[in-house]
Amino acid sequence: MDKKNRYTELKKLLDSYSRQYYLLDDPSVSDAEYDKLYNELLAIEKEFPEFKTASSPSQKVGAKTSKKFKKITHSTEMLSLENAYNEDDITNFIDRVKKLAETDDVQFVLEPKFDGLSISIKYKNGLLVNAATRGDGHVGEDVTQNVMTMNIPQKIPLTAELEIRGEIIMLKKDFQELNQQREQNGEKIFANPRNAAAGSLRQLDPEITRGRKLYLCPYAIISSDMSFSTQIEVLETLRTCGFNVSQYFTLCDTQEEAYKFYLNMEKHRADLEYDIDGIVYKLNDLNLQKKLGASTKFPRHSIAYKFPAEKAETTITKIIVQVGRTGNITPVAELKPVTVGGAVVSRATLHNKDEIEKKDIRVGDRVLIQRAGDVIPQVLYPIVNERTSDSKPFVFPDKCPCCGSLLVKEAAEVAIKCINLDCEAQIIEHLAHFVSKNAFDIDGLGEQSIKYLFDRRIIRSAPDIFEIENRNGREFYLQNAEGWGRQSVENLFTSINNAKNISLDRFIYSLGIPQTGRSVSKLIAKFFGSYKNMLENIRSENYDGLLSIYGIGESIVEDFRNFFKNEHNITVLTRLAGDGNNPGYVLVSDMEYIEEGVLSGKTVVFTGSLKRFTRDEAKNAAERLGAKVASSVSSKTSFVVVGENAGSKLDDARKKGIKIITEEDFEKIIEKN
Ligand code: NAD
Repeated sequence: MDKKNRYTELKKLLDSYSRQYYLLDDPSVSDAEYDKLYNELLAIEKEFPEFKTASSPSQKVGAKTSKKFKKITHSTEMLSLENAYNEDDITNFIDRVKKLAETDDVQFVLEPKFDGLSISIKYKNGLLVNAATRGDGHVGEDVTQNVMTMNIPQKIPLTAELEIRGEIIMLKKDFQELNQQREQNGEKIFANPRNAAAGSLRQLDPEITRGRKLYLCPYAIISSDMSFSTQIEVLETLRTCGFNVSQYFTLCDTQEEAYKFYLNMEKHRADLEYDIDGIVYKLNDLNLQKKLGASTKFPRHSIAYKFPAEKAETTITKIIVQVGRTGNITPVAELKPVTVGGAVVSRATLHNKDEIEKKDIRVGDRVLIQRAGDVIPQVLYPIVNERTSDSKPFVFPDKCPCCGSLLVKEAAEVAIKCINLDCEAQIIEHLAHFVSKNAFDIDGLGEQSIKYLFDRRIIRSAPDIFEIENRNGREFYLQNAEGWGRQSVENLFTSINNAKNISLDRFIYSLGIPQTGRSVSKLIAKFFGSYKNMLENIRSENYDGLLSIYGIGESIVEDFRNFFKNEHNITVLTRLAGDGNNPGYVLVSDMEYIEEGVLSGKTVVFTGSLKRFTRDEAKNAAERLGAKVASSVSSKTSFVVVGENAGSKLDDARKKGIKIITEEDFEKIIEKN
């Protein structure tokens, strides 16, 4: 794939991961995976600066606000922080600060980098008036009622209008308790305290927030009516106002002093009650802070010196292999339980066969494992000088542990696969995906129930789910199945019936096509527009247009094509949603593309020749921001973008009094968003 396509694909992926992370508090990938892709994007931008626009993840903070909340515009932007990973980065940072400040006389305040979600709380005449999340840095979500349920001063002895900025966190012990409760109730557990804090605060019902234990770690006061000269003064004022300011901050004159503090905090971070992921270095002098200003994403006066991911040593007791939905065989190390970053870890992924061989990981080895802010820990390397004769190399199976079929390895891939479509483990994983929340969303069919029904040959493939009521009826469950009460059986059938109307994007996602996650499904659905059109294209194997979609590259199209080369998958598709002549079990509604973008609900028309974009690029950019692009001007047109030598459409727009904007204006909208 060429660099431009890869860049576009990365942008799309990172945007979609950010949306999951910031808007849904439910990351779809680990932070390490996100950071890896982000760094790949930065490297491409360095090589090809011309690719970079204002819409790049490298130029944006957070994500747009969720529509569920009212919005609050911040008085001054809430930015992110630039990261440093080693002492050289810190030296560069300090040099840059001195140069911009035009003095060598600088002091830094060092504070923990609290791992939660940013908040801005406004006070007027000493009273708390509102609270907002960071959102995209300009506009945040109104979470006032939720913040009011927390133990935060609602009255302070300062009358000036001001905003207190800080981080809302959940203590490690409260996080563990909450997850235990959720597990018992069959609810999805949170990946880490950060996501638990965000998910608990961003609730429509403040009573839910009240039931969770959240704390504020304040670190800034923003006010045009008050002036402080130093960051230390700010922290002390916060404390006298009754805020719970961290005891772990220090003022440093030299880089050596600062490094000692950093190392000491790193050593003791596991003993802290809450997660911190680094140390923030901040210029103490607030006038100099102002002088340095900010880039689009970061203030220039501060930097976050990140801690390395948390690591621990333990022993591998066994290696097992698991079969995933797409047949990938993943080796997993079973470990002697060990506490890492506050959580007990007893399993870690070994990724694939090559990884085990490359690192020479053996059963019985003492190993270093790492948890990088996410749930699935990984084995970094074996501690070879502690290896005993009890350590045994792992013999990777050549047969699927579930169905016994011979495993295969495709030349260009690292994954070893079971390609037997009837492999039970894959079918069960696949069915669990089919009924999951973002697919058909069928409550009451967990993995255990699916396995139970699969073993009894009631559900062998996805369409069977829609037949179980007619073919087997309620009585089967009530008489035969353990643990099914009348109410849960009724609920299951209601949930299956409710699922029979589904949007095209969810339908595509539910099929479990490799690399086709939620955002790719949305793009494909939008492209085909209707199930009928998609089916026709699949039947005629016409996938050329998919490549023109902004954010879809060759490998995704290849997986889509291969999926439907398999007759079995076409049968599943048509059994589910009909084949044009016969109806299926479900009704797939045409895709109405709704994106939370600035142009949502707007209809745009382009006319004349554009200088900066091809027509397709302009169309894609408008659609990405939520607009519908029409070919002619009508009363529904929101505005017309006019290029050179525009003709009758421009006349039409003038006659109908429709707003007209230039290509430059349009480019500004795109750049800003
Ligand atoms: P960030 O959270 O790493 O750093 C910026 C924030 O630090 C600020 O907004 C501020 O609220 C906070 N902060 C904490 N203590 C502070 C202190 N003492 N002083 C000042 N600020 C303090 O940056 P970000 O831009 O919010 O998030 C980027 C990170 O989020 C990435 O590194 C990535 O790992 C993660 N992420 C993960 C996914 C995923 O899918 N897993 C998606 C998007 C982002």
